[in-house]
Amino acid sequence: MSSPANPNEITDAAATAPRLPTAFRSDEREERVRQKTRGSVSRLERSRQSLAGGVSSGLRRTFRPNPLFFDRGRGSRVIDVDQNVYLDYGLAWGPLILGHAPPEVVEAVQYQLSKGFTFGAQHDLEFEVAERLTNIIPCGDSVCFANSGTEIVQLALRLTRAVTGRKKLVKFEGHYHGWADNVFVSYHPTAEEVANSDGNPIPAALGQLPDDEVLIAQWNDCAGVEKMFANHGAAIASVICEPMLCNSGCIPPDTGFLEMLREITRSHGALLIFDEVITGFRLHLKGAQGLYGVEPDLATYAKAIGAGTPLSALAGKAEFMALIASGQVVHAGTLNGNPIALAAARAALDVLARENGAVYESLWSRGERLRLGLEAILSARGYPVVTTGAGPVFQLSFMSRVPHNYRDTLEADRSLYSDFAVAMLDAGVLLLPDGRWYLSIAHTDADIEDTLAAAERVADCSASGM
Ligand code: PMP
Repeated sequence: MSSPANPNEITDAAATAPRLPTAFRSDEREERVRQKTRGSVSRLERSRQSLAGGVSSGLRRTFRPNPLFFDRGRGSRVIDVDQNVYLDYGLAWGPLILGHAPPEVVEAVQYQLSKGFTFGAQHDLEFEVAERLTNIIPCGDSVCFANSGTEIVQLALRLTRAVTGRKKLVKFEGHYHGWADNVFVSYHPTAEEVANSDGNPIPAALGQLPDDEVLIAQWNDCAGVEKMFANHGAAIASVICEPMLCNSGCIPPDTGFLEMLREITRSHGALLIFDEVITGFRLHLKGAQGLYGVEPDLATYAKAIGAGTPLSALAGKAEFMALIASGQVVHAGTLNGNPIALAAARAALDVLARENGAVYESLWSRGERLRLGLEAILSARGYPVVTTGAGPVFQLSFMSRVPHNYRDTLEADRSLYSDFAVAMLDAGVLLLPDGRWYLSIAHTDADIEDTLAAAERVADCSASGM
C-alpha cells in the first residue's frame, strides 16, 4: 500500500505548478489599438457608405479590433494608413510568397504596363509561363490560365464531368475550393450543423443552389471514402481535396491517405484533383505533389503563382486536357492570360526556381523555427497550444490534441486566438484572424527572432494579468 501523500509535497507541487494563464483579452489594449489605427476606423465608416460592408471579400470583415486599411508594403513588412509598421504573417491570405513588392516582380510588371495591359489575344508570356509550369508541375502536361482560384476549380470540375460522363463530386468537410455553389458547402459548419446534417452537404451561405451531386467525406478517413466509392463509385467523376488541409487547421494527410485517394479514384475511373491554391509553390517548388510524391490527374493553382496579381492556373495530364485543347470543354474569360499577371508570374517563378528551388530550404527552416518557437513560448506559460502544418504555412490553435480532420478543429478556442492576434497586432505583428500563419522568402532570421520576442512579451504580459 502506498503511503498517504505528504501534505508538504502537495503544497510544494502547488507552488511550482505553472500558474494558469489569464486570457489575452484586455479592453485597455483593444482601445489602444483602436486609437493607433483610427485612420482605418474612419475610412471603414466612409467605405461602408458606398462599398457593401466596407470590405471586398467577406472574410476580411472578421479582422479585430477593426479591418485595417493599408498604404504600402515592402518585403516582410506592411504599413497601414496610420503609418503603423507590422511584420506581416497574413501576406494577403497567402499570395505574397516573395513578400511585398519584390523588386524582380515590380520591374517585370512595370515593363509590361508600359507595353500594354491586356490584348484579349495571344502573346509570348503565355507560353513562357506555361512552359515553366509544365517543367515544374509533375501532373502538368499542359496548363490553362484564369484569374481566381474559384474560377479555375470550376473549370477542373467541368473537365472531370466531361472526361468521365459522370456527375458526382467527393469533397471533404472543412476544405475550401472557392465560393461557387457546388463547392462552398460543408466548409466551416458549426458542431450543431454537423450533428443535424446527416452527412449531407451544408450550404455555407444564403442563396446557394442545392447540389445533389456533392458527397461529403471526412479528411483522413480511409474507410469513409472507401464506403462512398462502394456505394456510388460508378457515378463519381472526381475527388477534390486540399492535399494539406490549409483552410481548416493546416492538417496534413495521414501517411498513405493521398496514396489511397490516388488508388481508389484510378480503380473506379474517377479523376483526382489536388487544389494547390495554397500549397502550390509554397510547400515545395512542385507543391504538395512534390512534397508528398503523389501525382493527381489535375491540379489547380492561384495565390502564390501570381505573387499578388490575379492569376490562377489549371495543370493536368494531356489525355484530360485534350478536351480543353479541342474546345469541347469551354474555358473562356476576357482577362485570361492577362499579361500583367503573367509578367509577375514569370518573374516570381524565376526567383522560386533558382538553383532547383533552393529557396525553399530557408523558407522551411525559418518557418519551423517560428512554429516550434511559438509553441514552446505559449506552452511554457501554460497555454494548451498545438501547431500543425509546416514552416511555409502553419496553424496555431489553442487546443490540447492534434487535429486529424475538420471536426477535431472545432475544439480549438478561437476566441482566445483572436485575443492573442489583437495583442500581437499591438506588438507590431500582423496575423490572420483564423490562426493560419504564412511565411515569405523575404522574412529574415531577425524577423523570426523579433516575432518570437513579441510573442514572449505578449504571453508574459497576459500571464501576469497586465
Ligand atoms: N482553393 C483554395 C484551397 C483556397 O484556399 C482558395 C482561396 N482561399 C480558393 C480555392 C479560392 O481562390 P480565390 O479566392 O482566388 O477565388
